[in-house]
Parts: sequence; C-alpha cells; structure tokens
Amino acid sequence: MENPNIWKYFRLPFNQQQNAEFTEKIFFHNNSAILLFSSFLAVEQLIYGLFVIDPLSTTGKIHLLSALVMSVYAVISFIIRRNSPQNISWILKFYTLSFGLFGFYIAITRSLIQSGNFFTIPTVYIAVLYGFAVIFYFSPSTTFVIYTITAAIFMYLLPRYQPVATEMTYVQDIVANNIIAWMASVLNYRRYIKIFENQLTIRETNERLEYLSTTDVLTKVYNRRKLETILKNTHEKSLNQEAHYSLIILDIDHFKQINDSYGHAKGDEILVEMAELIRKNTRKQDQIGRWGGEEFLIICPDTRAEDAYHVAEKIRKLVQNNSFGLPDEITISLGVASYKTGDHIQDLMKRADRSMYNAKEQGRNMVKKSV
Ligand code: GH3
Ligand code: MG
Ligand code: MG
Repeated sequence: MENPNIWKYFRLPFNQQQNAEFTEKIFFHNNSAILLFSSFLAVEQLIYGLFVIDPLSTTGKIHLLSALVMSVYAVISFIIRRNSPQNISWILKFYTLSFGLFGFYIAITRSLIQSGNFFTIPTVYIAVLYGFAVIFYFSPSTTFVIYTITAAIFMYLLPRYQPVATEMTYVQDIVANNIIAWMASVLNYRRYIKIFENQLTIRETNERLEYLSTTDVLTKVYNRRKLETILKNTHEKSLNQEAHYSLIILDIDHFKQINDSYGHAKGDEILVEMAELIRKNTRKQDQIGRWGGEEFLIICPDTRAEDAYHVAEKIRKLVQNNSFGLPDEITISLGVASYKTGDHIQDLMKRADRSMYNAKEQGRNMVKKSV
C-alpha cells in the first residue's frame, strides 16, 4: 500500500511563483474581511458603549476601546486595499492575523466578564472561534497554534473568574469547540486551495488555446487569423491618433522549384528558418506572421514608408546572404505600403500586394513600395 503522507495534505501544491500569488490572494481576501468587519464592529461597539451600556462602566470602556481599535483596523485595511502592495511582507501577514487575535482577546474578556457568578455559555468566544475559521484563510499550522493558545488561555482564566467552570464538562466543551473550529478552518483553507488550483488550470488552458489559435503550426510565428486581428487593431489606432503604420509583404522566389529540387521537407525547413530570420531581425514593435504558403506579412506600427522600406531592404539582404544549407541562393521579393488618411485595410493590403508583384515582375530579389 502507498504510504499515506499526512503532511502532504497540509502543504501547498504550487510552485514558488504560484505560492506567492496564492499568498497575495489570501492576504487581500483577509484584508477585505477585516475592512468589512472592523467597519461594522466600530459602529456597533460605539453604539453599544455609548447608548446601551454605561460608558463609564468597565464593560462600557471595553466597548469604546474596541470601537477605537476597530476604527484603526478599518482605516489600515482601507489604505491597504487602495494601495494594493505587491510584496506581502511578514508584517502585513501578521497584521491580518492580529485582527483575529484581537477578536479572541475581546471574546475571552467579554466571556469572562459576562459569566460573573453564574454559568453562561461563552457565545462570543464560540462565535469568534468559528467566524475566524470560515471567514479568514490562514494555514492549518497557524490556526492550530492560535486555537491551542486561545484554548489554553481560556481554560486557565475561566475557573479564576467563574468557580463553577472548573467542571470537566466545561473544559471538554472548550477543547471540542477549538478542535472542530480548527478542522473547519483547515477544510475552508483546502477549499480555497482547490478554487485557486482550478483558476490556474483554467488560465493555463486559456493560454494554451490562445497560443494554438494564433500561432502558425510550422513556423511558430503568428498565423493569418492573428495577423488580421493585429492589423485591425493597428488600423483603428491609426484612425484615432493619426499615426502611420506600414505593411511589408514578402514572398519566397521560385519556391516551387526549391521544393521540386530539394524536397518538400527541405522546403518546410526553409520556411521555419525564414520565419526565425525575420523574427530575429525586426524591431520589437513589428509583428510578423505567415500570411499564406510561402508568404509572410510584417506589420510595422508608427512607421512611415521610408523607414518600412529600409526594414524590408535589410531583410532582403539578410535572406540573400543566408545559406539555408543549400548551394543555391534563396531570395525574396517584398512589397511595402503605408497608411494614408482615409485608407481601408483592404486598400493598404492591395497596394502592398501589388508592390510585391511588381518586384516579382521586375526580376525578383527586390523591394518595391507603393506610391
Ligand atoms: P514566385 O517567385 O513567383 O513566387 O514563384 P513560386 O514558385 O514561389 O510561387 P508559386 O506560387 O508558383 O509556388 C509557391 C510554392 O510554395 C508552391 C507550394 O508547394 C509551396 N508551398 C506553399 N506552402 C508550403 C509549405 O508549407 N511547405 C512547403 N515545403 N512548400 C510550400
Ligand atoms: Mg513564391
Ligand atoms: Mg506565393
């Protein structure tokens, strides 16, 4: 039988980067919970301390003190929420935990005062136990330490304030509730891990789908579908900002002949190497993709005709000087066209295409730009 490793249950199933993201997520969740609860409690405790109970009595003072502390937490959690810190330091982590600790402090104090000389169920204490378990996300080890300490403190103090509570049943009640609340917190935490795991899976699947639907299988540059999207976006941007962009269409010369002489597989290799060569030698903002069989399209944002021509000419020379592992020279013909006010995408594409065919007609291995 497989060795059931119980500790695995308590370990996060993520890599370092995912761990950091998970930590950040639970921190912001806990911070939102603090914002909600501290705002509510600040008002509630203030009303209680001022109007329900004599503000000068011990209980009244505790309520007013609680209201003050809750206001401080409300302000801090609001500031944290607005600034969304990137790095969750241990101070921030302790801050979220401190809210829970303060809750326990209030719960124990109130339960002790309330009990007086007669037996009462420590409702506030029990409410905080379970509230802490299901509202906040803390690791099982953290909650284990918290629940052990609070149980110990409560069990130590209670008989001193309430002699009746020395009975064993009372101790059992506290221990049992602490254990059940801890288990609830572990289950709650595990559930959140599962949710986060599912989110990661969905994200990875989406990224994979995005890659598959936008990438050319052979050359690994963008496919036609993606080029059309980029083209549309670039065009719209130009309309709004009066910016200029250019297109370069390039087609391998006599590729059919190359396939016939060296085989289709070698033809494929050349296409892959060609895509790589273009990708490596274009600027970061230029978007390249495979437009058709042995045709590539380069979209150059914020580029005027003259500059696009230079980019095209540079690529033409690079291709001519690249051996591709063949005795024959491989060359390309390129057509350049630039955006003019009032152009539709199709107008621009047509001009680029026509320029490329001009280059073919005039002897290939050259760049032609539309006027
Ligand atoms: P031109 O200089 O006029 O462009 O001549 P060409 O032979 O390159 O043009 P043509 O359009 O006659 O032939 C294109 C060739 O490209 C034919 C086709 O077999 C080849 N081709 C298209 N896609 C692929 C591919 O994915 N792999 C390979 N190996 N060849 C391809
Ligand atoms: Mg060709
Ligand atoms: Mg062609």
